[in-house]
Amino acid sequence: MATLFRCDLVIRNALVFDGTGAPRRLADVAVAGDRIIAVGDCSATAGWVEIDAAGKALAPGFIDAHAHDDRAVLCGPECLHCKLSQGVTTVVVGNCGISLSPLVRDTRPPAPLDLLGDASHWRYDSFAEYAEDFSRHGSAVNAIAFIGHTTLRAREMGDAELGRTATEAEAARMKDRLAEALRQGAWGLSTGLWYPPANAATTDEVIAIAEALTEAGGLYATHMRDEGDAILEAIDEACAIGRAARVPVVISHFKCIQPQNWGRSVETLARVDEAAKHQRVAFDVYPYPASSTVLLPEKLRDDVRVVVTWSVPHPEMQGRDLDDIARAWGCTRREAAVRLLPAGAITFQMSEEDVRRILAHPRAMIGSDGLPHDSFPHPRLWGTFPRVLGRYAREERLFSLEEAVRKMTGLTAETFGIPDRGVIRPGAFADLVLFDPATVIDEATFEEPTRPAAGIEQVWVNGEAVYRYGEGPTGARPGRLLKNPKARA
Ligand SMILES: [Zn+2]
Repeated sequence: MATLFRCDLVIRNALVFDGTGAPRRLADVAVAGDRIIAVGDCSATAGWVEIDAAGKALAPGFIDAHAHDDRAVLCGPECLHCKLSQGVTTVVVGNCGISLSPLVRDTRPPAPLDLLGDASHWRYDSFAEYAEDFSRHGSAVNAIAFIGHTTLRAREMGDAELGRTATEAEAARMKDRLAEALRQGAWGLSTGLWYPPANAATTDEVIAIAEALTEAGGLYATHMRDEGDAILEAIDEACAIGRAARVPVVISHFKCIQPQNWGRSVETLARVDEAAKHQRVAFDVYPYPASSTVLLPEKLRDDVRVVVTWSVPHPEMQGRDLDDIARAWGCTRREAAVRLLPAGAITFQMSEEDVRRILAHPRAMIGSDGLPHDSFPHPRLWGTFPRVLGRYAREERLFSLEEAVRKMTGLTAETFGIPDRGVIRPGAFADLVLFDPATVIDEATFEEPTRPAAGIEQVWVNGEAVYRYGEGPTGARPGRLLKNPKARA
C-alpha cells in the first residue's frame, strides 16, 4: 500500500474562491507549516488535521484595507474577536494620519489621535519599538502599518503649535522620522487632512514629508481634506501628492458626505478613473451609509443624525442620539457636543446609492474603518466583510461572490504590495477563511453593534487556527507585523 504524504492540515471538498476573481472550483487545500502546499486533488495526502468542507467556501483570509487596530493588535486575541469573527487575517493600521508610533505622550493626545487611547498607550519612540512590542506580545492577525502625519506633527511641533503649517525645518524632521520608520518596516505615510488640527497642513508640507517615500518605497494613504463640497479638489490634491512622491495613492473610506453631495459618486469615481490612467490610485470603502470618528462640534450639521459612540465625561450617553441628549440637557446640539468631549460619534451622512456605486467599482477594496476602542461602536467594526458577502453579493447581487472575495483579498494584497497573501495557491501563506456561502451575513446593527457575524466557520493565520464559530478566538497568536519589502531592518 502506498504511503500517504503527511502534512499539517487538509481541507477537503471546498468551494475554493482563490482571491483573483477566478470562478469558484471544487478542490482540496493542503497546508504544511505556514504555507499552502497543494490545491486540487489531495487524495494522496493526509493531514494531521482533516476538515470536510463540503458545501462550504474557502477563501484567502480577508485583508482589512483600512483599520485603526494599532493598539488592538497588541492586546490579545480577545481584542481581535471583532476581526477574526469576520474572517479577517491581516489588518492595515496607522490610517487617517493616526499611528501609535513614533510618539511618546504623558498627556492625552489631541483628537483625533485619542481614537487610539489616552496617554498610557503612547509609548513608542520609534516604529522599531512598536514592532518589537508586536513580536513580544504576538497577535492573532497579521498587520501592515502606516505612519501617521498627525502623529508626526504632534511629535515634531508640539500641541500648542498644531494649528499652523509646519515650518520647513519641522517638515524636514518629520520626513527624517518617516524615512527611519520606513527603514524599520513601516508601509507608508497616511494623512487625515480633513481633521483639525492637521488640516492646517498645506499640500507642500505633505509633499515635503512624503518625499521620504520616493527612496524607501511605500504608499500614500489619505483621509482626504474634503469628502463633501470640495471632494474633486481633494482627489486632485491626493493624486498630486502621489505624483510628487512617485508612489501609489490609496484614498481611504471613499464616500460622498452631506446631503447636497449625494449622487456625486458618479463624478468622483470618474475623477479617480481619469487619474488612474497616469498614476497608481486605489481606494477602500465600507458598506454603510453612516461614518464614524471623534465628535467634532465644529463639523456638526443640523440635517444629519448623530449618535454618540463614547464620551469621557458622560459615558452614560453612549448609544444615544445627540438630539435626545440636547433635549434632555435643554441646550443646543452644539453645546451638548462640547459638553460630551472628548467623545466619538456616528454620523448618518451618506446615501445608500453612493455606497453601492462605490462598492461595485472594480477598483474598490473593502476596509472596515472599525474603531475597536469605542464603547458603542459603529457596526462596521464587527460586520463589514460578512455584510459585503451576504448582503451585497448574495442577496442583492451587486457583484459575484468571486468579485466580493477579490475586493477583500487579491486586489488588496496587490494594491499594497503584500507578498504571497490574498490568494490561494501553492506557496502562498496559509491565511484562510472557511465560510458558508448560503448563510454568511453580518449580525451587528446600529442598535446592537457588537454581535459576531454568522456563517464564518473557521479562520487560520499562517497555518494556525485562530477562530472557530461558536467558540471564538482560539487564543493562538501566529500573526506577524509584515515589513515593507524594501525595509532594511
Ligand atoms: Zn479616516
